[in-house]
Amino acid sequence: MERPRILVVGAGFAGVECVRRLERRLAPAEADIALVTPNSYQLYLPLLPQVASGVLTPQSVAVSLRRSSRYRTRIIPGGAVGVDTRAKVCVIRKITGELTDQAYDYLVLAPGSITRTFDIPGLTEHARGMKTLAEATYLRDHVISQLDLADASEDEAERASRLCFVVVGGGYAGTETAACLQRLTHHAVKRYPRLDHRQIRWHLIDLAPTLMPELGDPLGRTALEVLRRRGIEVSLGVSVAKAGPTEVTLTDGRVLPSRTLIWTAGVAASPLIGTLGAETVRGRLLVTPEMTVPGAAGVFALGDAAAVPDLAAGQEGAICPPTAQHALRQGRTLADNLIATLRHQPLRPYVHKDLGLVVDLGGTDAVSKPLGVPLRGLPAQAVARGYHWSALRTNVAKTRVLTNWLLNAVAGDDFVRMGLRASKPPTLREFEHTDAYLTPDQLRARTASRPAAG
Ligand SMILES: Cc1cc2nc3c(=O)[nH]c(=O)nc-3n(C[C@H](O)[C@H](O)[C@H](O)COP(=O)(O)OP(=O)(O)OC[C@H]3O[C@@H](n4cnc5c(N)ncnc54)[C@H](O)[C@@H]3O)c2cc1C
Repeated sequence: MERPRILVVGAGFAGVECVRRLERRLAPAEADIALVTPNSYQLYLPLLPQVASGVLTPQSVAVSLRRSSRYRTRIIPGGAVGVDTRAKVCVIRKITGELTDQAYDYLVLAPGSITRTFDIPGLTEHARGMKTLAEATYLRDHVISQLDLADASEDEAERASRLCFVVVGGGYAGTETAACLQRLTHHAVKRYPRLDHRQIRWHLIDLAPTLMPELGDPLGRTALEVLRRRGIEVSLGVSVAKAGPTEVTLTDGRVLPSRTLIWTAGVAASPLIGTLGAETVRGRLLVTPEMTVPGAAGVFALGDAAAVPDLAAGQEGAICPPTAQHALRQGRTLADNLIATLRHQPLRPYVHKDLGLVVDLGGTDAVSKPLGVPLRGLPAQAVARGYHWSALRTNVAKTRVLTNWLLNAVAGDDFVRMGLRASKPPTLREFEHTDAYLTPDQLRARTASRPAAG
C-alpha cells in the first residue's frame, strides 16, 4: 500500500519542530515526509539583530537541516507559491524558478510571516526589513558603508544624512535592532578619526504610546531609559509620512535627513495563505485549536501564518501572538495531531501559557520577564542569552553562537564591510520574495484539470 504523503511548507521554528517530531515518532513505512524550503537551514530569527550588529556571524544563526543522517525528510528546494485544497496540490517554485506540482494527502502550512508594510509613499522602495538573513547581513554592510562614505565626504549635508539612522517599530524586533546597531556605530566611529560620535543620530519611532507594551510598564520604561542614555532618540505616537532616498518625513512634520530606514513595524502572514481562498483572521489562516483548517481536508497550519486560538489566555477569541515560543510548541502538538489522524485517534488542542519575553539590548543591557519575573541588566542578559542558546537546535550551532559571543566580548568587532552594497539597493519585495506567488486565476488555470481529491 502507498504511504500517505505529508508535505510540510516552511523550515522555521514551527515547520522544523513538526518535521523532527514526525521523523522520531512515525516509522518510515507509516508516511512519506517532504519539506518545502527555499533554504537548507532553519533561521534563528531572534538573533538576527546580533548578526546585523556583527556580534554573531550569519552562519551561526543558520541551523543546518542536514546536520544528522537521522534526518530522513525529503527536502524540496523552493517555495510554495499556491495551494489548491480541492485537488490537494501544492504548487512549488523551485530555486531554479521552475514550477512543479506536489500532490499531498496531508499538508502542514508553516511559511511564517513577512514584514508588514503600509501604504506610505516611498516605503517599499526605501525601507529595509529585519526578517531574513540576507536583510540582516545587508543592513550591517549598509550601516558600515554609511560610516565609510560619511568619512570620505566633505559635504556636511551628505554626512548628516549618512550618519542618521531611522528604525520604525518599538516592538522587541525594532528595539533590539536599534539598540544593537547603535552599539555597532558607537564602537565603529572610534576607528574613523574624521568623524565625531556626536554627529551620529539614531531614531526609534513607533505609533504606539509605549515601547514593547507586552513587557509591562516598569520594564518598558527601563528599556526606554537605556536607549535614551545611549543617545537614541525615541519618538512615540509618531510614524512615517513619506520615505525618500535621502530623507524620512515623520507624521509630526519633522524631516530627518537619512539614507537608512529600517522597518520593523509588525509582521503579516505569508502571502501563500491568501492563495488558499480560506477564511483568515487579520490575514492569518483561521484554524481550530487542533490546528486543522476548516473546510480543507488534510490541511493543518501553525506559527506566524496561522491564527491559532490562544486557549491559555483566558480571553474569548484570543489568538496566539506571532512568537517563536508559540511556533515551536505548536509544531510539536501539530505533529502529534497529524500522527493521531493517521492512526484514527482523537486530536489534542494546543494550549501553552506564555513564558515571557527576553530583550537583548546589546552589551550588558537587557530586560526580560521570564515567568512574569521582571529582570534588568546582567541577570536579564544572562536569561536572554541562556534562553536563546538552549533553544538552538544543534550542538554545533550552540558552539558557534557561544564562540562568537566570547570572541566578540574579548576582541570586539573589526567592522569589515563585505561589499554587499549594490548600486541599486534591494527592496523589501526582493528580499522577502513577496511577488513569487500565483494569483487565484493562475492557480485555477494550473490545477483545473485535476479531479477533486478524496
Ligand atoms: C528580529 C526578530 C526578533 C525576534 N525575537 C523573538 C523573541 O525574542 N522571542 C520569540 O518568541 N519570537 C521572536 N521573534 C518572532 C519569531 O521569530 C517568529 O514568531 C517565529 O520565527 C515564527 O515561526 P514560524 O515557524 O511561524 O516562521 P519562521 O520561523 O519565520 O519560518 C518560516 C519559514 O518558512 C519559509 N518560507 C516562507 N515562505 C515560504 C514558502 N512560500 N514556501 C516555503 N517556505 C517558505 C521561510 O524561509 C522560513 O524558513 C522575533 C522575530 C524577529 C524578526
